[in-house]
Amino acid sequence: MRKNIVAGNWKMNTTVPEGVALAKEVNEALANYTPKCDVVICVPFTHLCPVCGVIDQAKLGLGAENCADHKSGAYTGEVSAPMVQSTGATYVILGHSERRQYYGETSETLRAKVALALEYGLTPIFCIGEVLEEREKGIQEDVVRDQIVNALFQLDAEQFGKIILAYEPVWAIGTGKTATADQAEEMHAFIRRTIADRYGEKVAQDCSILYGGSCKPSNAAELFAKPDVDGGLIGGASLKCADFMGIVKAFD
Ligand code: PEP
Repeated sequence: MRKNIVAGNWKMNTTVPEGVALAKEVNEALANYTPKCDVVICVPFTHLCPVCGVIDQAKLGLGAENCADHKSGAYTGEVSAPMVQSTGATYVILGHSERRQYYGETSETLRAKVALALEYGLTPIFCIGEVLEEREKGIQEDVVRDQIVNALFQLDAEQFGKIILAYEPVWAIGTGKTATADQAEEMHAFIRRTIADRYGEKVAQDCSILYGGSCKPSNAAELFAKPDVDGGLIGGASLKCADFMGIVKAFD
């Protein structure tokens, strides 16, 4: 059966000392409390090694926010999947809308990134979601289906079973404007049907589909109560331990 997961996406925030302090705080909050979901923090590349040294990964998973579409070589400034793996991290966010929007990531580069992440034992948290204009035109399902089909449906069922999906309507990211729980459920159910059509009902039922976009302690419980919403990918609210833990506790 699929897992419930709350994953933080710190984006380009915190210095290394600040990030280590935040990771320690989350780790301590989890030390004497058993969450009803898996908890993961995805941090900047510079933070992976030091954060790895201060958390108990049995309770708090660690991930990167991206990885390169090549294994190694003359790609100045890039960080590869084997490099991420060598830090001790086990997750990687791929296809975040900010990467698609500002760094030109396409389904083609994402196919390569997904393949390398899986080859090096990293669990991709793969982001999909429409922009406001697409929702206003009513084409959000087509957009999301294309993103999934073009970047992921070359995988076999065993490989696909290792992917976590995060539905993040771009109009809800960092805007304070959350999708309603009904809007999220409608899309998550559509995504699950899309997976079922390609890989069958079992693979679809086993896939964790997270919601992302202005999720906070005050709205997490309503979103997570929906049958096809299996947790959240949390940006802004993951930068404060109390807010992040408030979202984790929405599963209690
Ligand atoms: C994100 O960027 O993945 C995200 C969900 O951001 P926020 O929670 O800040 O909207």
